[in-house]
Amino acid sequence: MIPKFIEHIGIAVENLEESIAYYENVLGLSCYAIEEVKDQKVKTAFFKVGQTKIELLEATSDDSPIAKYIAKKGPGVHHLAFAVDHLEEQLKTIENKGVDLIDKTPRKGAEGLDIAFLHPKSTNGVLTELCENKQQ
Ligand code: ZN
Repeated sequence: MIPKFIEHIGIAVENLEESIAYYENVLGLSCYAIEEVKDQKVKTAFFKVGQTKIELLEATSDDSPIAKYIAKKGPGVHHLAFAVDHLEEQLKTIENKGVDLIDKTPRKGAEGLDIAFLHPKSTNGVLTELCENKQQ
């Protein structure tokens, strides 16, 4: 598998509004989308830096994976997402290489992308997301 580019960097935040203000006022980026992903219990905010996005993630419930992450590790970089083609096939290939998959088949993420996560136990501690944009 060869990732095409870094699709986004996911950052766990405690307060979406305050975090958006930092990216806009300090870094001069502009938030172009805010979206709630109900099945992941998160609210997301997106910024573009060239081709790569920054995805801020705020928990919408105490049992959200983001709430659990922040409770354990504090706010900060949460995951790295690579853009790939043929996600479903890629997952099979990766699983055959002995990698633990959180998602054995793709599911819908923010922005209508098909996504799947690889377990950080198998990726040197970096929660890794693969994304395919079938809308292009
Ligand atoms: Zn993501």
